[in-house]
Formats: sequence, structure tokens, C-alpha cells
Amino acid sequence: MKKKVVILGCGRLGASVAAYCSSRGDSVIVVDSNPVAFDRLEEPFSGFKVTGDATDFSVLEREAFIATCDEAVITTGSDNVNLFLAHLCSGIYGVERIIVRFDDPAYETLVEGLRGVEAVYPFQLSYQEIVGKAS
Ligand code: AMP
Repeated sequence: MKKKVVILGCGRLGASVAAYCSSRGDSVIVVDSNPVAFDRLEEPFSGFKVTGDATDFSVLEREAFIATCDEAVITTGSDNVNLFLAHLCSGIYGVERIIVRFDDPAYETLVEGLRGVEAVYPFQLSYQEIVGKAS
């Protein structure tokens, strides 16, 4: 059966993940409040695009079908929005696997113990890579 993936926030990272998931055969829904963001979705993306605020319950429930998805990838540009969405996806909708992006590593403690949540920190990854190259 196809895996259902919802991507919340279609910036450069979200769009790239969406294209990847789509190319590996997942059923993908991407949500962004700005429809222009969908211009970032390049071939082979073949999923659904939802224009709306990901923090809006009706968008999440009736357009993104969050309660039936297997995986949520949370990549809006705001750590606070991402934190809120991670809590919703885990606590309210029981999404099995939730990958959330934070710029600030201090957010780690705020998702500790949340079922299914894995946090990634692009800033920290870039920092470690650069420092590694510089030393
Ligand atoms: P970036 O900051 O470039 O990583 O992009 C983040 C993306 O998330 C942008 O395309 C924003 O329009 C989108 N975004 C930010 N807040 C929300 C929100 N509450 N709901 C849906 N999309 C959002």
C-alpha cells in the first residue's frame, strides 16, 4: 500500500522532500499558505497541493486528511508554528511518524517524549559541517 505523506510548508526544504517522496511512490499532499510556494515543486512531483494555513484545523483535517496520513513532514519557516504542528500531529491526530524542522536547537526539549516525533536542525547540521571543514 502507498504511504501517505503530508508536507506542511513548501519552502526549499519542504518542496525537495515532497518531490523525493513523490518520486519514490508515496501519496503526497503539500500544504502552504502561499500558492506561489508550489512553483518550487519540480518534476517528478505528482501529489496534491493545498493552499491554506497549516495551523487551521479545517485545512489539516478536511484538505490534508492529516488523521489518515502515515507520515508528516513539518517544514514551515517558523519554529513556533512547527512546534505547534508537531504537538497536533502527535497528540491530536496520532500520526505515526513526524519529522519536524527547527532552526533553534533549544526546541529539542519542547518535543521530548512526543510520540513519533523526530526533530532535525538544518542550522546545526550546516554549522557542524562548516566547522568540520574549517578545522
Ligand atoms: P522557508 O522559510 O523558505 O523554509 O519556507 C517555509 C514555507 O512555509 C513558506 O513557503 C511559507 O509560505 C510556508 N508557511 C509558513 N507558515 C505557514 C503556515 N502557517 N501554514 C502553511 N505554510 C506556511
